[in-house]
Amino acid sequence: MTDLDTPIADKRDELIALTQDLIRIPTLNPPGENYRAICDYLGQRLAARGFACEMIRATGAPGDSDRYPRWNLVARRDGARPGECVHFNSHHDVVAVGKGWTRDPFGGELDEDRIYGRGACDMKGGLAASVIACEAFLEAHPDFAGAVEISATADEESGGYGGVAHLAQLGYFDPARVQHVIIPEPLNKDRICLGHRGGWWAEIETKGEIAHGSMPFLGDCAVRHMGAVLAAFEERLFPAMAARRTDMPVVPEGARQSTMNINSIHGGAREPETGDTGLPAHCVPDSCRIVIDRRFLLEEPLEEVRAEVVGLLEDLKARRPNFDYEIRELNRVIPSMTDRDAPVVTTVAEAIRDVLGQDPSYVASPGSYDQKHIDRIGKLKNCIAYGPGVLELAHKPDEWIGVTDMLDSARVMGRSLQALLT
Ligand SMILES: [Zn+2]
Repeated sequence: MTDLDTPIADKRDELIALTQDLIRIPTLNPPGENYRAICDYLGQRLAARGFACEMIRATGAPGDSDRYPRWNLVARRDGARPGECVHFNSHHDVVAVGKGWTRDPFGGELDEDRIYGRGACDMKGGLAASVIACEAFLEAHPDFAGAVEISATADEESGGYGGVAHLAQLGYFDPARVQHVIIPEPLNKDRICLGHRGGWWAEIETKGEIAHGSMPFLGDCAVRHMGAVLAAFEERLFPAMAARRTDMPVVPEGARQSTMNINSIHGGAREPETGDTGLPAHCVPDSCRIVIDRRFLLEEPLEEVRAEVVGLLEDLKARRPNFDYEIRELNRVIPSMTDRDAPVVTTVAEAIRDVLGQDPSYVASPGSYDQKHIDRIGKLKNCIAYGPGVLELAHKPDEWIGVTDMLDSARVMGRSLQALLT
């Protein structure tokens, strides 16, 4: 097999420049800025290398507007002979900058082996590594079989509905069209991510009755009712979740059980505006709302996750005077897990052994990423996340990507392309 190590090493400067260019296009989400600009930039580069490029706007998706259109790029290069299609999918959006930076978040500054910037690790570094891997592969194997695809998609950081979910609905991840998907999220160059836990988000509202705060007995305090809900969670739900373990190789270890975050709580008078020095009016709150973020395991059916919470609320309704509530589902994500002997897994594992001289470790993500849409909507099971970068740096100040890590993972990706398409 022709060795891609030298051709990829020779592209070091090009890889750095590409990563810097991508970081310098601030694709902030929210609101969804510069999506077209980054798709145009990549599309021009890939078209010049023989890719057929399509720009797809997720018109009508959440967040899509004429001001902030949700643009996606799908670039495809067909080989000389029929064969399978390997698809690299990266999201092009990045999260808010936040406080605490000592580097320019959109400068793409190179310092020794690190490139700094928002999105460097999550996941413009992975996108750049996959582009360089594909280009090196195509130069070495002009006679390859099948097809290589690279997509850059919107809104992964806000659920992926304007990105991969939309493309999946249009049939871009139909198993008749694409056979192997690699998502270069920052999972570390020696780890293969097989999938992720599920998520269920809901708003719970307790009801009360407004009255003067000096005579609370004339009303009914919705915040006290919510206190009873939180107490029931503490006494019954949290211990039950902690006792449930998954066989999924979730990292970190603490996420190998069911978990729930209480995302927010609001009740009674609105928070005063900054600078408002007025004292609060004296009222009994007639509404209190929380948003729950329940992460669940492959072993837990979503109906049971939901029924467990509703059961606690119904129980309170039966025994607590005047308790009334509403629950509204906000979003749901089904867990996804690719088999360890799926072809893309065994191929990338072998490439990691060849390139890095060590066995890969297999992990699953505590949160979720775009694999959920490829699995549920696209019905494509042969999908993993594999890419350079330290996951713990994602969304943090002074986020960076290592140049050596990008080069090593590009070699693994290039080796995988050789195994699947030559
Ligand atoms: Zn990401």
